[in-house]
Amino acid sequence: MRVEKQVRASDLVGCRYRLVQRRNHPEAPRTDAAQARAERYDAAREAVWEKFPRKSDSRRTPFRRIDLGPLPAPDPWLRSLETLEALATGATHITGAVFANEQWIVGVDMLVRAGASTSDAAYTPVMVSSHRVARKHDKATTPGVPTHRLGLSKPLELGYKARHHVLDGYHLAMAARALDDLGLNSGRGGLVGQDRNLTFFSDTASYQDTLDKALEAVELHNLPTQPRRVKECASCRFWPLCQPELEAMDDISLFLPGDRARPYRERGIDTVQGLIDASLGLPSQLAAAWRDGTVLLARGDVTVPRADVEIDLDMEAYLDQGAYLWGAWLDGTYYDFVTWEALGPKAEAHNFARMWTWLMQQRDQAHAAGKTFAAYCYSAHGENHWMRMSAQRFAGHTPGVPSVEEVDAFINSAEWVDLFAHVKANFVGPYGLSLKTVAPQAGFHWEQGDFDGEESVNARRVAIGHDDEALRAREMLLTYNADDVQATAAVREWMSNNAPNVPRL
Ligand code: SF4
Repeated sequence: MRVEKQVRASDLVGCRYRLVQRRNHPEAPRTDAAQARAERYDAAREAVWEKFPRKSDSRRTPFRRIDLGPLPAPDPWLRSLETLEALATGATHITGAVFANEQWIVGVDMLVRAGASTSDAAYTPVMVSSHRVARKHDKATTPGVPTHRLGLSKPLELGYKARHHVLDGYHLAMAARALDDLGLNSGRGGLVGQDRNLTFFSDTASYQDTLDKALEAVELHNLPTQPRRVKECASCRFWPLCQPELEAMDDISLFLPGDRARPYRERGIDTVQGLIDASLGLPSQLAAAWRDGTVLLARGDVTVPRADVEIDLDMEAYLDQGAYLWGAWLDGTYYDFVTWEALGPKAEAHNFARMWTWLMQQRDQAHAAGKTFAAYCYSAHGENHWMRMSAQRFAGHTPGVPSVEEVDAFINSAEWVDLFAHVKANFVGPYGLSLKTVAPQAGFHWEQGDFDGEESVNARRVAIGHDDEALRAREMLLTYNADDVQATAAVREWMSNNAPNVPRL
């Protein structure tokens, strides 16, 4: 059996042509983004394994842990045999397990024995997920246990609501299916998500139907024979192979990825040229703009709100753990409000309070001088979220943190301008309307080059250290943030001048 021909849970989500390419071109190297993601996952996995129990605190609770080695296993087939041997010993905890058959393969971070004795043994697979697998909830409950008590304490109903992620479901379903074949399935699966201290359980039987359908979809005769551009192509290692194929076909997905092309395919339009030639109004105009590299088309005269005192604001958050950097641009000067400490009540609250106090001072001074005031942000969703979350968590505990009502009053006022909304009202563009796409049309270019959101997450992880690498990462993050606020400023100035270089629809 050739292990690499088997399906992994990750092959069951997203683009199915990836599996075709993986089988035909196993040598294609990982992208930097995928590499960084894998490193983040490995670090999370290592941190969780550190928390797995190492001994029992009671003689009455049997404990025999077998460590088969790290995952992914260097020789998965051998590891799957070692897993069977470990199960046969009746061990209570088995880390680094692998189950493999002709069709699929799955690595399991830990198998935890559920039965009290080896004769009634059943095992619960526990997987490390990079997702947030449950959120605190006032009413809902989910069974869970502290990760360091896995197999030692009975699960309790915790005040959390489980969040389902398809990939996690496939992982657990595969592991449960393999255990079922051995007559060792407890019927439960455990997930350790972004909160590594807790493991949450779910019923693995509920995932089996979906797994059946997904496995059927990746059977050879059901796999696609050619690529179609989707969102994940942007970070897929097979893009250098798929792109020329798509270009040779002039496939419509080059311009309209994913499901966006479906209405046109249903009309028999499968190519970009076909869409241009169909003269369908805006879709055909945008397809023609895409073809000749025109980035933006204006709907008419361009308008944007302006004020006497203007500030551009941009926030950087680390996953959903908290906001660590608020940057502002005022009168040609960049102001940063940043903490490089671990995110948590103290540093994050103090940093947010400094930013808010400064922002409100600028606003009050403008009002006192009889001037109008506006703060701009490009797509304010994240900033609104973290302003409200910071107020919710820190108001009343840290001086200078506003109440949620104060934050709401500000973000619902005309003095908080989401520039993205105004860009959308004024322009259309075949490449989207992100700040990275629009600002170069306004003559702005990033000093940092291409530094996307995912790279910023990686840089933040490095920046909390104290070595030279950490200092370099801090510098990069600040430059990135300073560039973003200046880009916003450049876009509104340019819009005020009626975006002179942009063709009209
Ligand atoms: S580049 Fe896109 S179409 Fe090709 S395998 Fe990757 S995700 Fe699929």
